[in-house]
Amino acid sequence: VAQGLCGRGALVTGAGKGIGRAVAVALNRAGARVTALSQTKADLDSLEQECPGIQTLCVDLGDWEATEATLNTVGAVYLLVNNAAVALLQPFLEVTKEAFDRSFDVNLRAALHVSQIVARQMIARGVPGAIVNVSSQASQRALQDHTVYCATKCALDMLTKTMALELGPHQIRVNSVNPTVVMTDMGRLNWTEPQKVAAMTSRIPLGKFAEVDDVVNSILFLLSNQSAMTTGAMLPVDGGFLAC
Ligand code: NDP
Repeated sequence: VAQGLCGRGALVTGAGKGIGRAVAVALNRAGARVTALSQTKADLDSLEQECPGIQTLCVDLGDWEATEATLNTVGAVYLLVNNAAVALLQPFLEVTKEAFDRSFDVNLRAALHVSQIVARQMIARGVPGAIVNVSSQASQRALQDHTVYCATKCALDMLTKTMALELGPHQIRVNSVNPTVVMTDMGRLNWTEPQKVAAMTSRIPLGKFAEVDDVVNSILFLLSNQSAMTTGAMLPVDGGFLAC
């Protein structure tokens, strides 16, 4: 059982669906006081029904001002999971300005901005904290049609390191998880073709994609006191893909 989560304020972005939702549910079970943020109200309503006690916030993280206004209402946060992201796949030669800007706004800029707001609060209150950025194996390997997504996740890994450097003196730890494919909505959208799946799994020593729980468990570990001396680290949840 992960230690140091019970009673703690936790904020999870992109918590309406997929990995983020599962993290919010797991943190709620671990006794954390969870705030779940996403942009589709119906998802947040169903999460509140599933887990009474979870607070929800509905905002588009691509909107800097709206995000700031929304997060000003959030209570004390000790644990932050920057999970929200989009995967807008386009061949390199067809990448559009719109897809580039949207991807960087949501996948990178929002992680920086939400972390700034939360870290400023932590420092003002003089409390330690833990932040986990949800990156990807795509941060470190080129994948077909993933030019923009790979670039956002690579930049997110460096953000994790620079945040670890500057927030470490305040006893705020910052790490990332870097999963392989997970069959969420995002995963299903991009990894349904059997040939594509076979080509990817053949490069994974364990020969399979990750389950949502594999990612959740690693995130909870990095949020918990059990990883108290780990900061600035990228934890692969990839069946060995990045080792090869
Ligand atoms: P999903 O698409 O299943 O869920 C993403 C969640 O983030 C949704 O609730 C979505 O809301 C929300 N979200 C997206 N954009 C915004 C926004 N602008 N503002 C607020 N909320 C937003 O994705 P996954 O659960 O699969 O992915 C979670 C994380 O894991 C992402 O960072 C992803 O890059 C990473 N990852 C995923 C992998 C995979 O194969 N699935 C592999 C490796 C990493 P809505 O649906 O309303 O837009």
